[in-house]
Amino acid sequence: MQDRNLVIAGSGVAGLSAAVYAARADLDPLVLEGDEPGGQLTLTTDVENYLGFPEGVGGTELVQRGKAQARQFGATFQRGSIESVELGQTHKTLSLSTGEQIRTAALIVATGASARWVGAENEAELMGYGVSTCATCDGAFHRGDDVLVVGGGDSAMEEALFLAKFADSVTVVHRREELRASEIMAARVRDLEDISIRWNTELQTIHGSQDEGVTGATLVSHPDGHPTEKAAESVASERVDVGGVFYGIGHTPNTGFLDGTAVARDEDGYVRTETDETGRVTTETTVEGVFAAGDVADPTYRQAITAAGTGSMAALDAEAYLDTLDQTERLAEDAPA
Ligand code: NAP
Repeated sequence: MQDRNLVIAGSGVAGLSAAVYAARADLDPLVLEGDEPGGQLTLTTDVENYLGFPEGVGGTELVQRGKAQARQFGATFQRGSIESVELGQTHKTLSLSTGEQIRTAALIVATGASARWVGAENEAELMGYGVSTCATCDGAFHRGDDVLVVGGGDSAMEEALFLAKFADSVTVVHRREELRASEIMAARVRDLEDISIRWNTELQTIHGSQDEGVTGATLVSHPDGHPTEKAAESVASERVDVGGVFYGIGHTPNTGFLDGTAVARDEDGYVRTETDETGRVTTETTVEGVFAAGDVADPTYRQAITAAGTGSMAALDAEAYLDTLDQTERLAEDAPA
């Protein structure tokens, strides 16, 4: 069993920012890289709204730079994700996917959120065989195809814009008749001839096989929207020929490993963070010594810049917490100055 003072779960922007701050404070943090090392930014192309990059920066480049920065100050990285935790008064025991156990005095949860699935018929069988949650990863496989993008938010717009570079046509399938996306993203989509939007429509079934890939989809629509919630007889159904289906319907926080613990979460699974006695925000959770940062605790803003901000806050909060522990409660020496 490894003993640590501070473990950071997750290596997206939030985890990396926490690692930079904690390593600079000589807390010798261990970063568990998780199932998606680098987090969601590695699934995106250019990030145009991260402060300090007027020309934009590649998502993967941004996290690679963050990792190098954290390493430079002494943070250690380890593959693996947490499967379950025991959160004692002072010591937290983490059981990893690798079978290893780590005991730590403080834990920063920065495990992010993962793409949601629609629930269409055959999606599990065809995921990775023409069905994808990541246009930037899989878009290039669809040169010359007609493809669908499901969703009406910024993620769906971003996927559609990216896919328009490769596909013959892109059809956005949205369950209502109003987009949730920001005006700037919606305008970019409207301005591209190759992208059309099917309003009040949902994806019911995906056709194809693992050998052939996706060959088509059945769409259902209803003039009042949310067709799958309407009685079957009042819903129009149409089969379309498409070679790819992309999901852009949002994310679910990666907090399953906190099941059965006293870390409070909201109804969607996002970790709740506490306010201090003056009502100001903190990254503290309902369990002492456990902090949360980034998308795992943020159903509202979910931006790289806010994840980086809360990551730094979590490191500062964890440092203050570790300062309150006496030597017997701390589990390891800090990094040599
Ligand atoms: P989102 O804003 O929650 O949008 C999800 C979309 O998917 C909504 O239009 C929703 O429909 C639809 N949807 C959800 N579940 C569905 C289902 N089961 N079947 C069909 N449709 C479903 O999520 P997001 O687009 O991932 O964006 C999340 C946050 O990240 C936002 O703050 C966004 O601004 C930000 N973001 C920014 C950028 C950028 O600036 N480049 C890119 C990506 C994301 P309803 O509208 O009917 O609810």
